[in-house]
Amino acid sequence: MQSSPSKLSGSPITGDPRLRCRRSLWTAGVRELERRTLAGRRESGAFLLGHDRGKHKEIVEFVFYDDIDPDSLRTGIVRFAGNKLPLLWEHCRKRGYGVVADVHVHPLGYGQSPSDQADPVMPRAGHLAIIIPHFARRETEPGGIGVYEFLGGGKWANHTAKGPAFFQLVNP
Ligand SMILES: [Zn+2]
Repeated sequence: MQSSPSKLSGSPITGDPRLRCRRSLWTAGVRELERRTLAGRRESGAFLLGHDRGKHKEIVEFVFYDDIDPDSLRTGIVRFAGNKLPLLWEHCRKRGYGVVADVHVHPLGYGQSPSDQADPVMPRAGHLAIIIPHFARRETEPGGIGVYEFLGGGKWANHTAKGPAFFQLVNP
């Protein structure tokens, strides 16, 4: 008997996921985030670039904060300098991508810190912020990571519990 082309066991496809990423890209990007924590000595993070089609966003590239702003990880907490943003916009323009989300790692849990809530990386409604717990050494996939949507006016929606129904990893 021919095997099913769908090998998404553990990733039930339900509903209409808002955010998608190829699993191979996600796995490689998360592994690189873990590497950049320098064995758990600091947080790391990345802009997630891709296509924004209204309610549906697709991640196609990680741009690591420290590649654009070498000082961004120095304090241990991610602090991206706003004056480096033109470098990011130039990169996006060349590739034809937008910033659809951001991701950073935490030492422990995936809850938002007060500064995560107060300072969205992209302060515009609909922007998605992902937090990977335990320096990306344990849970790294939807269901075990924090997924938050900025609503504007200091408010956020927490989509974490929706897991792959909100953020779907697509094989391969
Ligand atoms: Zn944080």
